[in-house]
Amino acid sequence: MCVMYDLVIRRARLVDREGVYDIAISNGVVELVSRRVSERGVEEIDAGGGLVTPVFVNPHLHLCKVYTFEMIGGDALKYYHGGGMGSSIRAIELASKVKEKYDEKWIIANVRRALKEALRFGTLYIRGFADVDSKARLEGVKTLLKTKEEFKEYISLQVVAFPQDGIVREPGAEELLYKAVELGADIVGGIPWIEDSDEDEWKHIEVAFNIAKEYNRDVAMLVDDAGDPTLRTTEKLARATLKHGWINRVTAHHARAMALYPDTYTRKLARQLRKAGISVIVDPHTGPLHARVDLLLEENVNVALGQDDIVDAYYPYGRNNMLEVAFLASHIMWWTTPDKIKIIYDMVTWRAAKAMGLKDYCRRVMEGCKADLLVHGYPTLRELLLNHEAPRYVIKNGKIIVENKYITEVKSSANTERNL
Ligand SMILES: [Zn+2]
Repeated sequence: MCVMYDLVIRRARLVDREGVYDIAISNGVVELVSRRVSERGVEEIDAGGGLVTPVFVNPHLHLCKVYTFEMIGGDALKYYHGGGMGSSIRAIELASKVKEKYDEKWIIANVRRALKEALRFGTLYIRGFADVDSKARLEGVKTLLKTKEEFKEYISLQVVAFPQDGIVREPGAEELLYKAVELGADIVGGIPWIEDSDEDEWKHIEVAFNIAKEYNRDVAMLVDDAGDPTLRTTEKLARATLKHGWINRVTAHHARAMALYPDTYTRKLARQLRKAGISVIVDPHTGPLHARVDLLLEENVNVALGQDDIVDAYYPYGRNNMLEVAFLASHIMWWTTPDKIKIIYDMVTWRAAKAMGLKDYCRRVMEGCKADLLVHGYPTLRELLLNHEAPRYVIKNGKIIVENKYITEVKSSANTERNL
């Protein structure tokens, strides 16, 4: 039998097709998906009936703060999660203390650890936020840009210059944002709801769009991240996006106050978000409120899930494991039926990729798509979420980059032909 492909994955299940397939890969591209590929690969994997999917995508991670929980303790958590999120601004103030000690020297070890976790769990696209303010200065941005380069063969990292403490209320933040983008930050961040007045919120958004337009960057803003139904920066962001013509280039993160809005207003807002091509990133596991995922999807707004935090002042857990995030979301939203589980899976794969503007991400495993794939130890999406384990193999550009050896065979009680 002649060797023809770089890699052949045998007996794989696919999310959108019934039955078992062989997947043949050469030059980093899926060349053939067929019931039986007769030619051999230089390397071969027996998926044993396990699912093969595109890699996971994490569109929201405060990457400069990972593993800082011990430095701050639990006080910020008390304010962020307690009392219906009415005091989340106090949490941000407390958490910002750690930034007085910000130094690339210690941050970098934490960032590397989080990215290695991402590799282990097959999360190969990440939008990482780095704080930019008078305390953090540019230490977070520099660290993320350095690790982006270090990991570039494996992980595509988008670096967001994020003015965590505001732009108007934080002296020097605007200048630091300019500098961050000049250093190479990919995305202009924002957090308009933290400003002291309506006027300052608008000003905050305008400054961010001015930088984005001058340097041709996308925009990512944390909006209305508190239990206050009067917050309206999600709408302001949508209106500014339309005004500046930045359609399909903006993400809105959190928008937790949406949970407290009346339905009529939320639908109106959703229509504006759709018009502006804004994707909404939610993280139901990191706060007691979350945006109206059901309603947004009904109005055709793209919604994705993010990890948000890893062991920091706002959240004491997190592993860059998007199946874990999906598992938690499934409970918090009570989305447990097969069709809802499928949507949750979409929100950590192609919907997250769409939010990040990834052009070459393949929505499904098919001929011609980039071979950035995961070979899982389970045959159905439900079992993927149930176990939220690392995949058996992580494949990048057609090459095996991670093999998680502790999973040796496909574990399934339901040896069914169906995927759900
Ligand atoms: Zn966040």
